[in-house]
Amino acid sequence: MIELPEAYVLAQQINETLAGKKIMNVTAAHTPHKFAWYHGDPQKYHGLLNSKTIDKAVSYGGLINTLTETEKKVLFDSIIGTLTEMASKGGRDTERDLFGCFGGYKIKAGRNTVDKPSQKCGSNIIKEAYMGGSIYYCPECQKK
Ligand SMILES: [Zn+2]
Repeated sequence: MIELPEAYVLAQQINETLAGKKIMNVTAAHTPHKFAWYHGDPQKYHGLLNSKTIDKAVSYGGLINTLTETEKKVLFDSIIGTLTEMASKGGRDTERDLFGCFGGYKIKAGRNTVDKPSQKCGSNIIKEAYMGGSIYYCPECQKK
């Protein structure tokens, strides 16, 4: 599933390769995908977008509001550093970019590292359900 670093990379690639170009044909919902969300009826997209010019793409992130100011600052700096590294390497190695290439950021905990040792402490990475998705973490060096 596309998350913030891939959204950033995709928006950048769209702006570099598609901005200013005219839409000639739109095909939406041609393959089933459980993580696709549409605004309105995708069968109407061609009529809405045909002959329009692509302006630009913008990615958006989320908010966290349940920490102290110090915790927020530490978390914010860590997130910015990690996301900057992820985006500068073209996204995660589990997701593809606009051209079908995997990103260069090697994830530390994800679907490919479940039950494998943490890079930091050697304890096994675990998977848990969280808010309709999955989270992956080391129970030793990433305590709740
Ligand atoms: Zn660990």
